[in-house]
Amino acid sequence: MSEVSKEYNFKQVEEKWVESWDASVYYFDWGSLKPQYIIDTPPPYPTGNFHIGNALNWCYIDFAARYKRMRGYNVMFPQGWDCHGLPTEVKVEEINHITKNQVPREEFRRLCEKLTEEAIERFHESMGRLGLSIDWSNEYVTMKPEYYVKTQRSFVQMYNKGEIYREDHPVNWCPRCGTAIAFAEVEYDSRTTTLNYMRFPAEDGYIEIATSRPELLAACVAVAVNPEDERYKKYIGKQVRVPLFDYPVPVFADPAVDPKFGTGIVMICTFGDKQDVRWWMEHHLPLRQAIDREGRLTEIAGPYSGLSVEETKKKIIQDMKDQEIVFKQEPLEQNVGLCWRCKTPIEILSERQWFVKIDSEEIKKTSEEIEWIPPHMQVRLKNWADSVEWDWCISRQRIFATPIPVWYCKNCDEVMVADEEWLPLDPNRTNPPIRCRKCGSDEFVPEEDVLDTWMDSSISALAVAGWPDRKDLRMPAQLRPQGHDIIRTWAFYTILRTKSLVDMKPWDSILINGMALGEDGHKMSKSLNNFIRPEEVFETNGADALRQWAAMGGSPGNDIMFQWKEITAASRFQQKLWSIYRFSSPHMAPTGEAPGQVDRWLLGELDKLVKTATEAMDRFQFDETFKAIRAFAWDVLADNYIELVKARLYGPDSPEKRAAQNALYTAIETVVRLMAPFTPFISEEIFHSLTGRSVHIQSWPEPLGIDVDPAGLAIKDIAAALRRFKAEKGMALNAPLPSIVVYSDLGLETADLAGVANSSVESKKGKPEIEMRPVAVKPQMKVLGPKFKDKSGRIIKALLAMDPGEVAKQKAAGSITVELDKETFDVSPEAVEIVTETLSAGTAVDVLKVGEATVLVRR
Ligand SMILES: [Zn+2]
Ligand SMILES: [Zn+2]
Repeated sequence: MSEVSKEYNFKQVEEKWVESWDASVYYFDWGSLKPQYIIDTPPPYPTGNFHIGNALNWCYIDFAARYKRMRGYNVMFPQGWDCHGLPTEVKVEEINHITKNQVPREEFRRLCEKLTEEAIERFHESMGRLGLSIDWSNEYVTMKPEYYVKTQRSFVQMYNKGEIYREDHPVNWCPRCGTAIAFAEVEYDSRTTTLNYMRFPAEDGYIEIATSRPELLAACVAVAVNPEDERYKKYIGKQVRVPLFDYPVPVFADPAVDPKFGTGIVMICTFGDKQDVRWWMEHHLPLRQAIDREGRLTEIAGPYSGLSVEETKKKIIQDMKDQEIVFKQEPLEQNVGLCWRCKTPIEILSERQWFVKIDSEEIKKTSEEIEWIPPHMQVRLKNWADSVEWDWCISRQRIFATPIPVWYCKNCDEVMVADEEWLPLDPNRTNPPIRCRKCGSDEFVPEEDVLDTWMDSSISALAVAGWPDRKDLRMPAQLRPQGHDIIRTWAFYTILRTKSLVDMKPWDSILINGMALGEDGHKMSKSLNNFIRPEEVFETNGADALRQWAAMGGSPGNDIMFQWKEITAASRFQQKLWSIYRFSSPHMAPTGEAPGQVDRWLLGELDKLVKTATEAMDRFQFDETFKAIRAFAWDVLADNYIELVKARLYGPDSPEKRAAQNALYTAIETVVRLMAPFTPFISEEIFHSLTGRSVHIQSWPEPLGIDVDPAGLAIKDIAAALRRFKAEKGMALNAPLPSIVVYSDLGLETADLAGVANSSVESKKGKPEIEMRPVAVKPQMKVLGPKFKDKSGRIIKALLAMDPGEVAKQKAAGSITVELDKETFDVSPEAVEIVTETLSAGTAVDVLKVGEATVLVRR
């Protein structure tokens, strides 16, 4: 065996394997007879860089993928890229100082594609360096026609089933992004705003209404009160006039009005919030759209038209104050809906949009067929399903997204949805190959809207499993790993779409991972300056150390704090393992020799480790697994076993020596196989030099069927007791002792103990004959002082002068008689302690009790 370096050079080792590994061993085999294990991995948005949060999630996936592969599964660990959508568009607009409408559609799309390709390249680099076992033969890129043809086919199929429709309906609208967004993309944040009290002219005088959105006054379509509110009963069914704009609106009663908020009267606008939408639908109110797609006031706002929402708010409040319409203002804490991408407050506009029908009950039912890890995460999905009030708005007024394959007939308005065979296509670039299905015209207007990016990613499971082309569709997938922040989007939509398209659950299990937090416990962000890039850790401690942090960080579902001290601990463990390997390297060998007692203790502990690790891996409890591996390598193997068998290993050739060589080989070979999913680099380095083969095509270890040998365990404990004994007596650990006799009914082998103690060791059955001889008296001043006062000094002297054997006898009888100047004193038994010496066969010995064994040591 070649020379092993003293220090583990993580950088050299990791970079070597990144270069030389054969990625094709991780390819999914479509023809394999092994059971399949398809992982529906998250396709990240390739913007920016692969960050520590990505690294954490991908480590989890890789642990699972590598483990399942070693367990004999045909694993697919695909990698997708969810390219489309606002983040990239926003970035392109920032970088090029443009907005999407300032350049031709095609040019804008090209800029987005270029940015995305560059980001994917950077992600590839980081993922390779992290040692992920990705199946690159199943990579998908949602912006490529090979993928978006599937998104378009899914649209057409669902449209033909009546599950997608187009309608005028209120939608959440981001004025900055200039597009509709789905409810799942609205974030709520609390803000302090102002509640304005206004007077609305009524038949007899006026009524008072409080609102936080006076800029919507021109969109007021009704006023509502609570039917139980005595103050306002007389107004129900009457009309009041909207101030400034001076038109009448009806007053109606609705139990949803809170009499305690403001004045107890609400102004209903189209649309201030979700509640306005509910009232608008229930009471069939007219539509007055006061805000346009750019977030500016429309013509119905008269003098305010063309102003932004903020400008209008300021101006209209001032105008109403001047005319004494607003008579009071107070601060108000309010939840404001924000666009989750750009944090701009959203508006609710009525727009003609495309929608996917949501059947919340069916989604909840399907979620019951899926195993949720941890189980409580399912509640989040159910709560979301229960709170969904509108269907999923899937059309976006953007550019960089999958085109909606639809045209409208110029002549008769017929909606021409493409046939599946025509796909992929962009209706803005091609016309339908047939004439209008209704009137025969050949003039069409293309649909300019594009699809929500979740329409791409919610068929990820289907796409990797071979939908729609493969006859042997591999659905359901086995595992969906994802963050808890996208349960209401990605998980929810994937269940919905898979159910609709193939009438199945998408996966057997869903594994929810936590978020990576900065060292300060906050979400990592550049602005908080707690941001760590994986590359920093690759440089300082290596990928295996980062992966160990991910493994040790906690169980799935919990957020994990990034801590440099965990990385340092990981490096220390790596070095420890390397030192074990380095020491063992000239000694270990697969000799096949039958194990002795201590070897059977080691191999029994190894079996326990394999069982614990397997059981924990099956539950995705990576931290439990890795903690058990570390404890075994460090405590059992390094601190105890190797110390115990050194004498045998260095000794002349014998069956005992060969048994130790074999046990050591077995333990190290097994440990690196167990570690392979977590630390692929160091595991490969050690396994490869042991066997000449890659650890990543090996199987997961099976227990050998060896129980911990109680005799071996006793020897390990006795050796530890002897080490402690020498340390307590201030002796060097290799200092020889004249004699050691071990009494145990287990019939202990003595070779390893003799080696550890550097002394001859005799093993005997039964219990030793031991005799305790009193050798000194220790008078207790705290008992004697208070009782004998000034005489106590002399009494102590007398006690010390007595024969210790005699004092011990009297103490046992209950009282000690002390004679002093012809006086006799009775001293209580507590007043003296007797120092004894242990004798065995007439010689003084030290006695160590270790479990059922007794060890006699002569110094
Ligand atoms: Zn936005
Ligand atoms: Zn037509």
